[in-house]
Amino acid sequence: MALGSVIKTLVNNLVTRNYTEIPERVQAGLEKYLNDNEEILLTLLSYRAIYKAPKWVDSNTFFNSWFALTNNRIIIARNSSHFKRFRDIPLNEITQIFYELDEHEGKISITCPGKEDVIEFSKATSPYFNSLEKQLKHAHEKAKELKRSDTDVQSILCTKCGSKIDSESKFCPECGARLGGF
Ligand SMILES: [Zn+2]
Repeated sequence: MALGSVIKTLVNNLVTRNYTEIPERVQAGLEKYLNDNEEILLTLLSYRAIYKAPKWVDSNTFFNSWFALTNNRIIIARNSSHFKRFRDIPLNEITQIFYELDEHEGKISITCPGKEDVIEFSKATSPYFNSLEKQLKHAHEKAKELKRSDTDVQSILCTKCGSKIDSESKFCPECGARLGGF
């Protein structure tokens, strides 16, 4: 690529922010992180993601991070030079989702037993709110149906933190540890 076009690309990246396409370098890491049969349904840059943990000390706020919806979880990842996962929210653990998505604000509040995640999106991303709400509702419904029909999902315990996790997971959703056999 000629230097001129390299500079033009850099300038374009700075001026027009892309809110829905994860940068390639993050995408590559995210794809490796996914389980077999897991696919990304939607990605949207969030303004702020707040994790309210059962113990306040574990709570955290992540600015300018990627919200990635897959067919079985929500992954909050850093918007940076490489993939770094902040949060995993398994869809089948979600008890309630509260949507406040319109042209004035973009906010979804997600409740799991003992935990809450609040994800806020900037006004600039409002054209994607309809699709976000529709896809998240649909994925959540499907995950709940699967949970009802498949009650004997094999569980294992994470060797690092001891959390009960799906035996097909490649990584522990709680502590991020890579699990054996891969
Ligand atoms: Zn773990």
